[in-house]
Amino acid sequence: MNKWTMNTSTPEETSELAKKLGEIVQPGDVLTLEGDLGAGKTSFTKGLAKGLGVKRVVSSPTFTIIKEYMGRIPLYHMDVYRLNEGDEELGLEEYFEGEGVSVIEWASIIHEQLPKHRLEIVIKHTGETTREIQFTSLGNRYEQLSKELAQWATH
Ligand code: ADP
Ligand code: MG
Repeated sequence: MNKWTMNTSTPEETSELAKKLGEIVQPGDVLTLEGDLGAGKTSFTKGLAKGLGVKRVVSSPTFTIIKEYMGRIPLYHMDVYRLNEGDEELGLEEYFEGEGVSVIEWASIIHEQLPKHRLEIVIKHTGETTREIQFTSLGNRYEQLSKELAQWATH
């Protein structure tokens, strides 16, 4: 399986799902987050941070591009909304290959700089408090990760 979808009805449900993912990610994992403004990308990252055991409050890194948090392993939270496709490389690969987990909001803006293997997460607005969350795994590691999350979600 390389693609599956989950529908959530509340922010809390999205957070629980993301938290579970935060509990099973490993050093060097790369997760991309796509979705319109207000879809829930930052909310998802907050849940993930909880699962990683991050104690600090996670806020949107829109103006800083990258924020780093310490949990069981580091969390590199990026929001590349303000970057343009032609921008100089920011040395992002050092994060992607680092000891933490990278989470990139608006990742398609820098698609050429993304590692080939990653877990793509797309969040769609389906109603005021409902969201469709789609997981697509690229590469073996992410198929395994995605499968484990799907199993948890459908238990
Ligand atoms: P983004 O980072 O994608 O711009 P945010 O995470 O900042 O979006 O904002 C998402 C907003 O949508 C939050 O206010 C959140 O509480 C709300 N929301 C409502 N329902 C859901 C849901 N089912 N899942 C996630 N967020 C939801
Ligand atoms: Mg955001």
